[in-house]
Amino acid sequence: MSKNNLFDNTQIAFQLKSDSELERAYFLFKMISHEPLVRIGTAATNFALKAHLPVEGLIRSTVFDHFCGGVNEEDCLPVIDKMFEKGVSSVLDFSVEGQEIEGSFDAAMEKTLKIINFADEKEAMPIAVFKPTGFGRLYLYQKKSEGKLFTNDEEQEWSRVVARYHKVCKLAKEKAVEVLIDAEETWTQEAVDTLVEEMMRTYNTGTPIVYNTLQLYRWDRLDYLKELHKRAKRDGFSLGIKIVRGAYMEKERERAEEKGYPSPICDSKEATDDNFNKVMTYVLKHLDDMSLFIGTHNEQSCYLAMDLMNELNIPKNDNRLWFGQLYGMSDHISFNLADQGYNVAKYVPFGPVKDVMPYLIRRAEENTSVAGQTNRELNLLKTEKERRKL
Ligand SMILES: Cc1cc2nc3c(=O)[nH]c(=O)nc-3n(C[C@H](O)[C@H](O)[C@H](O)COP(=O)(O)OP(=O)(O)OC[C@H]3O[C@@H](n4cnc5c(N)ncnc54)[C@H](O)[C@@H]3O)c2cc1C
Repeated sequence: MSKNNLFDNTQIAFQLKSDSELERAYFLFKMISHEPLVRIGTAATNFALKAHLPVEGLIRSTVFDHFCGGVNEEDCLPVIDKMFEKGVSSVLDFSVEGQEIEGSFDAAMEKTLKIINFADEKEAMPIAVFKPTGFGRLYLYQKKSEGKLFTNDEEQEWSRVVARYHKVCKLAKEKAVEVLIDAEETWTQEAVDTLVEEMMRTYNTGTPIVYNTLQLYRWDRLDYLKELHKRAKRDGFSLGIKIVRGAYMEKERERAEEKGYPSPICDSKEATDDNFNKVMTYVLKHLDDMSLFIGTHNEQSCYLAMDLMNELNIPKNDNRLWFGQLYGMSDHISFNLADQGYNVAKYVPFGPVKDVMPYLIRRAEENTSVAGQTNRELNLLKTEKERRKL
């Protein structure tokens, strides 16, 4: 198979799926490809969960099991082991969102520490991840990003957020487990960037341990990266860079319009793609100073990365470079890349069913026929069903 149709191999893509799992995935993507159904479905599910109706079992056996590894980290082990047998690593992602109390921030930090300790013993889990708003209130990040002064109480609260970052990054450094810090809304990102840079200065003294995320639907990120790179070289620390396109486009545009500031998002999909390619090329050309995690389901971006690696003589399994996809999506990219010897890791979300609902709803929404690549996913599943004569 030539390189540019590498991802068409459905036998490799779905090698871990039994016939019934394949049928379930097909049924699921068929359902969520209907946008109105997703809208009605998410409203009904939210209502049913709030009203304590017994829908957890139904959610679990459909969307949850497709997009999540389990309700806790132990529950994810069979999935982690099975994928690793085929060369695909796991990034366990505690996907509980929107709980804004100190206790839940501490709990999220403890989970991350536990995963790093767990990862230290398990080759299949070389990387950990957390979300900024998992460790502190969005309001604080926003206030800090806007350059406003904190009250005394807020100052204290912020120092606890900073302490959580330090605790996680310090353990990650001790255990040599890389840690990715996700990116969220732009109006919180300035504070996150500053804090993550502080972590990189402290812990990325040799090979990169701490990774910041660049959302490349933002037109300002290449300039940001170049400036960050200058500071890193001047002050002697290395960079961990995760690149994604960005998941909050509509929200970003609406807020910019409503508040009357220029949109931080590229004007078109093509402009985002171009920006993504430029930043990916920049990082690949400077791999001596930085490591790269490419989080994408875009086939062309992956082909381009493979071409550039080839051109720049970067070995497929170079440990400064990872490809990443989400569990339950784009297995044709993950498993075919791994089969060719590239480093691949899938984010494996986990958490109690009702707490991961916001995550599941985002997945369902981005996979509707309007927004996403469901047709591609459906076609691949169909090809594999036919190949297996189901
Ligand atoms: C492993 C992994 C980790 C991730 N971590 C994060 C994270 O930390 N933060 C985060 O925000 N997202 C994250 N994402 C999600 C990611 O940002 C994208 O939403 C998702 O992957 C779809 O983009 P794509 O590159 O896979 O594919 P594509 O389908 O090629 O791109 C879709 C994306 O292009 C952009 N886009 C679409 N239409 C337009 C338009 N008209 N104008 C401008 N841009 C447009 C949007 O960003 C959209 O999401 C992650 C994804 C993966 C796979």
